[in-house]
Amino acid sequence: MIESPLLKNIDSYIDGGWVSSPNTAATTVRNPATGEVLAEVPDVGADETTAAVLAGERAMGQTFDLDTRRRWLNDIADAIESQQDELGRIITLEQGKPLKQGAGEASYAAGFYRYAAEHLDELEPETLPETVRDCRWSIRHTPTGVAGLITPWNFPLAMLAKKLSAAIAAGCASVTKPAPDTPLTAIAFWSLLDEIGLPAGMASLVVGPAEPIGRVLCEHPAVRVVSFTGSTGVGKKLLELTAPHVKKLSLELGGNAPLIVFEDADLEDAADKLITNKFRASGQTCVCTNRVFAHEAIADDFAQRVAERVGKLRVGDGMDEHTDLGPLINRVGFDKVAEHVRDALGLGATRIVGDEPPRPAEAWGAFYPPTVLVGVTTDMQMSREETFGPIVGIHRFETEAEVIDAANGTPYGLAAYVFTADADRADRVATSLRFGHVGINTATGPAPQAPFGGMKQSGFGREGGIEGLFEFCETQVLARG
Ligand code: NAP
Repeated sequence: MIESPLLKNIDSYIDGGWVSSPNTAATTVRNPATGEVLAEVPDVGADETTAAVLAGERAMGQTFDLDTRRRWLNDIADAIESQQDELGRIITLEQGKPLKQGAGEASYAAGFYRYAAEHLDELEPETLPETVRDCRWSIRHTPTGVAGLITPWNFPLAMLAKKLSAAIAAGCASVTKPAPDTPLTAIAFWSLLDEIGLPAGMASLVVGPAEPIGRVLCEHPAVRVVSFTGSTGVGKKLLELTAPHVKKLSLELGGNAPLIVFEDADLEDAADKLITNKFRASGQTCVCTNRVFAHEAIADDFAQRVAERVGKLRVGDGMDEHTDLGPLINRVGFDKVAEHVRDALGLGATRIVGDEPPRPAEAWGAFYPPTVLVGVTTDMQMSREETFGPIVGIHRFETEAEVIDAANGTPYGLAAYVFTADADRADRVATSLRFGHVGINTATGPAPQAPFGGMKQSGFGREGGIEGLFEFCETQVLARG
């Protein structure tokens, strides 16, 4: 069982306090590396979620000025930073990523609260310079209403931070449902939030099964905005559930990121950056490269450089400081990766790094060896779907037009990366790519300072940057005669 000063209470948090559900059901949280049971979190359901929503509605009976919200946001950022290592350790224990990445995620999460605090003035009312129809016009950014926040397991603190920072900035109360694989990070965070002194009901946490909790968040009239990060399949379901209630939605969904390497690119640099991007969280991030396109003239050379680097990566328990890659979240994730590799090999790809790992006997211990495949083509499953694992699949291309078509040939549009020494080409290609985040000679993912989100079936809405601050606001115009 996990021991942590941040986990004195292992429960949901509703209306300003920890609650234990009267239900006997619990969410079992295991270390995905070892299978050790870290905690049993009592489940809450529809009744408790409704209570959390109503508490949020009561909290929003007051209005909170920008200075108050700024203080909360800064206090939260300070609290996360002061507990960065402990939060990182909890992330590693329940998510599996290496310790350094766990602590890095905590620091990244703090950045969203800090950024929101520093830019809150963007939400000040504006007055139009013109007098129109004898009226003075002003524009206010009002809190939308209680927010439902639904988060995934791959970044249990950062994905929450993106949403909660913007909700607090807007003055919205919220009810968060974390992923059942990784609720402890959220619970630990709530132990910090408990000290900040938010009004009761302003931020609640409900741990339990998705369906009843999701239904309340999608249907309750007091919830006016639902912000979801997760798979496109679940995102579509939430669209359906919220449609009859015409709720505001923000959907941060799956990706299928291309990384394009032109013949004039700095291959050493591109290989280094691909490795950092691809193997973070064992390839389980929405902005991980899913398809590498290397120009015919350098494809073999580039594959060799990538292979050399991948061959040196160490797989193991994230708690071991020498580990580069932890386990996949579970055996379901492992099976998908194994299937993508099997399919690609069957259709003519060649594996130049990695070997066939044994299927884990249990749901945990899903270690998949970092793998490089060459001869990958667009008809293969790993090119069409998000693999969410440590597999680099290298395609070849000849012309710019062909690679743009191939890169865009997916229903997804989250992140893409282009490596070339030709600035004009970089701009041209980036303009043609239908992806919300495009890296040019970098494969870095999102930052708190920049709006991030998808095009096409990767969703809509933006998190981070000034745009992200408006996700939980509604615009109200006052015309004064
Ligand atoms: P997921 O299966 O879609 O689950 C995400 C969250 O939604 C979990 O908390 C899940 O809870 C919950 N959920 C499922 N059905 C629900 C329902 N009917 N009502 C309410 N909540 C429901 O995704 P995941 O496997 O955790 O995360 C991986 C996916 O997230 C990948 O596709 C990745 O690309 C995407 N992602 C996108 C971004 C981005 O910014 N665009 C960032 C990170 C991850 P249960 O597990 O209990 O069902």
